[in-house]
Amino acid sequence: MSRRFFLASAILVVVSGCGDRDATRAVKAGSGEASSFTVAANQALAQDLSLADSRDFEDARRGFIATDDPLVIPGPDGTTAWDAASYGFVAGDAPSTVNPGLWRQAKLNALRGLFKVTEGVYQVRGYDVSNMTLIEGRTGWIVVDPLTVEETAAAAIALARKHLVDRPVSAVIFTHSHVDHFGGIDGVLPENKDNPAVIPIIAPQGFMEEATSENILAGVAMSRRALYVFGLALPRSPLGHVGTGLGNGVPAEGRISIRDPTELVGRTPQEMEIDGVRFVFQYTPASEAPAELTFYLPDLKAWCGAEIVSHTMHNLYTLRGAKVRDALKWSGYIDDAIDRFGDMEVVFASHNWPVWGNGRAIDYLEAQRDTYRYIHDQTLRLANQGYTSQEIAEQLELPSTLRSRFANRGSYGTLRHNSKAVYQAYFGWYDGNPANLDPLPPADAAKKYVAAMGGAASVMQQAMAARDSGDDRWAATLLNHLVFAEPGNDEARSLLAETYDQLGFRAESGPWRDIYLTGAHELRNGNQGTPGDPRRAMGLLRNTPVEQLLASMAVRLNGPDADGKRMRFNLVFTDVGETHVVEIENAVMHYHRTEAAADADATVRLTHELLVQLGTEQAGLKDLVLSDNLDVAGSRLKLLSFLRLIDKPDGRFAIVTP
Ligand SMILES: [Zn+2]
Repeated sequence: MSRRFFLASAILVVVSGCGDRDATRAVKAGSGEASSFTVAANQALAQDLSLADSRDFEDARRGFIATDDPLVIPGPDGTTAWDAASYGFVAGDAPSTVNPGLWRQAKLNALRGLFKVTEGVYQVRGYDVSNMTLIEGRTGWIVVDPLTVEETAAAAIALARKHLVDRPVSAVIFTHSHVDHFGGIDGVLPENKDNPAVIPIIAPQGFMEEATSENILAGVAMSRRALYVFGLALPRSPLGHVGTGLGNGVPAEGRISIRDPTELVGRTPQEMEIDGVRFVFQYTPASEAPAELTFYLPDLKAWCGAEIVSHTMHNLYTLRGAKVRDALKWSGYIDDAIDRFGDMEVVFASHNWPVWGNGRAIDYLEAQRDTYRYIHDQTLRLANQGYTSQEIAEQLELPSTLRSRFANRGSYGTLRHNSKAVYQAYFGWYDGNPANLDPLPPADAAKKYVAAMGGAASVMQQAMAARDSGDDRWAATLLNHLVFAEPGNDEARSLLAETYDQLGFRAESGPWRDIYLTGAHELRNGNQGTPGDPRRAMGLLRNTPVEQLLASMAVRLNGPDADGKRMRFNLVFTDVGETHVVEIENAVMHYHRTEAAADADATVRLTHELLVQLGTEQAGLKDLVLSDNLDVAGSRLKLLSFLRLIDKPDGRFAIVTP
């Protein structure tokens, strides 16, 4: 069995490994051709877009200092963390199999290297999915967002040191709690890896809690879905993965870590002097991330918008699965920044490239602000007229003044799924129609649909007719029913894969393309597993509180198996000096940090590290419980029966088949 783990898979959503793939099997490719409908759709869009407008390219190249060429950043154990050349095919005009908007965005994101933003502010872009910003302090570099993994972060700061000044890191700012903005911290602060000391680390309030918890409970499922969203199993090619829209791709390998912040930003404005540089922070929680900040450098008239502004429409809902984001707050923070920092001469961010000049910067921010506000307001306007989520998404369009601007287009998030996110935030999953209150689950419904449509041959016929008229969305619905009714029907699988190819080739959003093409890839080549090796995140897991680790166990308690069982254990963590009482009652796992219970079935003395090793299966449950490595007073057998109640989910679950 492949390695399974219960703690942290979603922390790893951006780290691919796809260890479950069978490398020996030949990969079946698709037809590799755009249908006439795809060609026409992509051509029509190309005519609609102002592709001759070179302004973004000028901005993305402005201030270029140097890059590594070639740029191949090794990961651990002989792996490759980052290989810029793998995107080398992204050049020239869009091929017929790629949406021209996405192609343009991929070309922009591929412009990599060290760039000067303004006096004393630099960025390393294209060394990871995110940007590292370096601000010249009095004594050293203030590093903003040390990328996703140690290896890419080390390469980025080395580039800056080589071509600017070789100075130490004097402070670090984590703009928000997503791993692509903190995971590489050990690459910029290697010298005090095990001795976190004097160097100030500034982060938004709630950072550690969110960074170590945001995805931990639902992590296994999110990881599997992330394989689709980031196209991690796909070849990088005009027929496969092209880019995420937010950046080229995510690092394929690498070590992830985290550090405790030394100073928190929890209000607006919050002024701070960091290594001789004046900062004015804006606290923007519950926007793009649960814990986020932006900052203004008043002496340089430069605003870092973190990830609340980007050169793409962002996600109000991320398709790997996450709680929906608050469009109203998000838009409001951008408005507030325009008010407070209205004299800015440049805006730079955690992804993509800066915008210079006061007029252009404000104009860009206003359009970003209004994009999220428009989606919010118009979704509710239509909901109040009785339209449901799918009906709203189908008819919603940005106004001409917003949709004509590249930065508001959906090369990452999309209007379709973002308007559904707003609907979900207010109304939840139920659309109010009784037919949708308690429908049959997919496989049961599929069998009945196929029968009602006259059997498999008839469904195939109708699907081919839909395809031949360019209605690939309907073809996908028909064929999905057929595959769910008859998973062994190769003809149906193959036609569904071709249908997903065309939907992917037309998609402007990088994640939409990757999702469709991964669906096609799995229909042809079988399950591609789930990304990630939890051992690479040990640096993060070591900083995850015991409560979070226990919470991740609780959501894996097998309810039916635990029915009627009562047990109680004292867990004494000798390294962190905490005692937690864990109880099973009503098939729920309770845990409290408290005094040891006198009537416990057993008292277990262990370490936080050991719990992490158990969770990542670096230590086996049974061996450990029965060995002398664990100090157990009381019933070892009862402890073992408790641990046996904890499920090991298989992250290879099926998606495009039942
Ligand atoms: Zn990011």
